[in-house]
Amino acid sequence: MNGKARTILAAGLAAWLLAGTAAAATPGYGAPPEGLAAALARLAAAYPDVIASADMSAVVLRDGTRLPVSDGRTDKSFEEMLDHPDIDDMFAFAYPAGAEAAAPPLNFDPGRIRVEALFGKIYGDCKAGTAQKKFRKVQWLPKLGGGSLMFTTAEGADKALEQVSAELEQLPAKFRTYLMPLGGSFACRTIAGTERRSMHASGAAIDINVKHSAYWQWDGKKLRWRNEIPPEIVGVFERHGFIWGGRWYHYDTMHFEYRPEMFQK
Ligand SMILES: [Zn+2]
Repeated sequence: MNGKARTILAAGLAAWLLAGTAAAATPGYGAPPEGLAAALARLAAAYPDVIASADMSAVVLRDGTRLPVSDGRTDKSFEEMLDHPDIDDMFAFAYPAGAEAAAPPLNFDPGRIRVEALFGKIYGDCKAGTAQKKFRKVQWLPKLGGGSLMFTTAEGADKALEQVSAELEQLPAKFRTYLMPLGGSFACRTIAGTERRSMHASGAAIDINVKHSAYWQWDGKKLRWRNEIPPEIVGVFERHGFIWGGRWYHYDTMHFEYRPEMFQK
């Protein structure tokens, strides 16, 4: 064995040992994601009425609440991350804005992980009646007779939705069937089968026409992602800070929610 071969063998052995160590040390979810500092800056910029500052240690709210960015866990199961996320877990999956719609990889749910302690401060609590105090009536596609819905005014979400509505009205008539009648907006409830509060309970989510939707909870144990929602519609929502449930492994293709922190400018 010459020196070079020995070096290659040693490097291979080291890589194999390292891979074993890495697999043992990080069997689950929870490690800080790449680009975390930029994501925290986007978070603070997205919710300036509630967030005073955000750095790699904590998100500090204007009322003095301090939310640690990391709970130190890197071994969470996917369900644990959904049920007990810290701030960095919210950015575990980068939201693929503008990408072609396609079946996401296993558990790829960008934006589905939400720290309730933060969102409760931003939007209020519907059970206590504080969320509803921030609502106002928003006209949905008024030129087309789309009716109206109650939506939150927190952090300008209502204005973003009005811009979405105005742009969607400009689309050709063939798109209307996806947009009307509305599937729903405010509902003071937890997500089906969980204790987690839905963004519908904050008045910051909207479901377009249920008739064209695919929702993983309707499909039993065997998930089969598919989509009818045209990219033109998804693009309008995304340009105004709304994420789309069609980008989730746990798909919900009628669902859009206001999450401006998920978009890289
Ligand atoms: Zn929904």
